[in-house]
Amino acid sequence: MSKPKGSMVHGLEVKESEPAVPRKSASKPLAKSPSAAQSLLSQLPSIDRLIRSPHLRDTLNTFGLTLTTQISKDLMAEIRQSLKASSHSKLTSAMEVPSEEELAQRIQNACVSKMALQYQSVYNMTGTVVHTNLGRSVLADEALMALVQASQQPLNLEFDLNTGERGERDHFLEALICEITGAEAATFVNNNAAAVLLTLAALAHDKEVVISRGELVEIGGAFRMPDVMKSAGALMVEVGTTNRTHLKDYEQAITERTSVLMKIHTSNYQVQGFTKSVSEAELAPLAEHHQVTLVSDLGSGSLIEMSDHGLPHEPTPQEMLKAGCHVVTFSGDKLLGGPQAGIIVGRKREIDIIRNYPMKRALRLSKLPVVALEATLKLYLQPEFLVQRLPTLRWLSRSDDVIKSTAQQVLGAFERVLAPHYQVELSQMMSQIGSGSLPLDTMNSFGLAIKPKVQGGKGVGSALIRLSKALRALSKPIIGRVEKNMLLLDCRCIDDALALAKDISSLEIHEP
Ligand SMILES: *Cc1c(COP(=O)(O)O)cnc(C)c1O
Repeated sequence: MSKPKGSMVHGLEVKESEPAVPRKSASKPLAKSPSAAQSLLSQLPSIDRLIRSPHLRDTLNTFGLTLTTQISKDLMAEIRQSLKASSHSKLTSAMEVPSEEELAQRIQNACVSKMALQYQSVYNMTGTVVHTNLGRSVLADEALMALVQASQQPLNLEFDLNTGERGERDHFLEALICEITGAEAATFVNNNAAAVLLTLAALAHDKEVVISRGELVEIGGAFRMPDVMKSAGALMVEVGTTNRTHLKDYEQAITERTSVLMKIHTSNYQVQGFTKSVSEAELAPLAEHHQVTLVSDLGSGSLIEMSDHGLPHEPTPQEMLKAGCHVVTFSGDKLLGGPQAGIIVGRKREIDIIRNYPMKRALRLSKLPVVALEATLKLYLQPEFLVQRLPTLRWLSRSDDVIKSTAQQVLGAFERVLAPHYQVELSQMMSQIGSGSLPLDTMNSFGLAIKPKVQGGKGVGSALIRLSKALRALSKPIIGRVEKNMLLLDCRCIDDALALAKDISSLEIHEP
């Protein structure tokens, strides 16, 4: 071991025996002079010395030399900065050189926080079940097992075990979704936006796509129908008006350049009042007559009848195919409850064109969603167990009584940590499906309604912001929603009330 640099040793020795700056001498002019800052700086240990300090041994063993050195350098640079800065200000009490032990502790903390995963589990108490910003559907255990296996070991992703030759990536998925939906053929891509893009590019590049003005939607996250058309190289022909489109509008727009009649399930908003749209069933004969392809973008595309589970009806791919659509696209991670994926089902002729279009290669599913989707789709072959196994459906169809009892189980724990400053009440509230399903279709739910106890109603907003922030800072963050001067925590998506009660008990809230 080489000898640490003399000056640094000297600096530390001085500090240990008699601190150069008396700790609480608030107004010593010496501390404000640049030379005082210089002398403080010279007391900082070198990186070399710090790394060799016994206080850093565990950190080095855990995080390795590279990261520990980098973090140490960053910290020392930061301390040097603040010493210099405070020497120019009146904050002389801040001008202290931390001990080696303190420095080691700060380095360790910085290493821990640097290596902590930034994508982390949260409690979804927003009341929106399929929440895009919170990762949409949570996978069933069966899908998780498939993910783990496929991640740990090689698999027959594109390998035919019968012939020993190259196989098709989508092969098993295609058979499964065709069995479930009755489609002739199917292909799969990264998400539904990709499914729409690929479908239009493959079927309507440099050709015309007829679409109602009432369906030129923006789905969110910059998915706007006119832009997607442009990206696909399709020529958009708008028909009808915002509120009313008739069959004859489509009919009059069809030319020899028309390739596709496009229907979009306008799921995330509703036009009410004097409205008219043309259904897929009405459009199908027109498409047949003119030999053009009828494409329907369903968005959510539930594979089961949602009204059987007490939920609003959501059009299914089965229904769309029966109505005469040639191609139907929908998401894997919305109501279907699987991994992110775009599913394209329909007639073999069109699906073959789509699947063989070169862009498909850039949009294909990666192996993890392939296996997770297979496991998720297999659950649909045993519909009796679906509610129990598929978290999305379980949360959506959870009964009032169960949700209320979850809220009752966590109420006390929330009251205990929030009591002095906030009033916590069990409350009825409304959940929504989310991810493009009708925001107007809400479901009765239960949870906690939290109100700040403030004098004369002043500062309610800022108290709610503080509380929301504190809940987000928990090691498993809690995400709620602010509504009518209350923080609402919807208990619909909570599976483990005891775990939540335990987690909330570590909340520390500092009220001004
Ligand atoms: C959600 C949605 C999309 C986009 O699907 P992603 O899977 O998010 O890419 C497209 N169209 C409609 C109608 C949707 O609801």
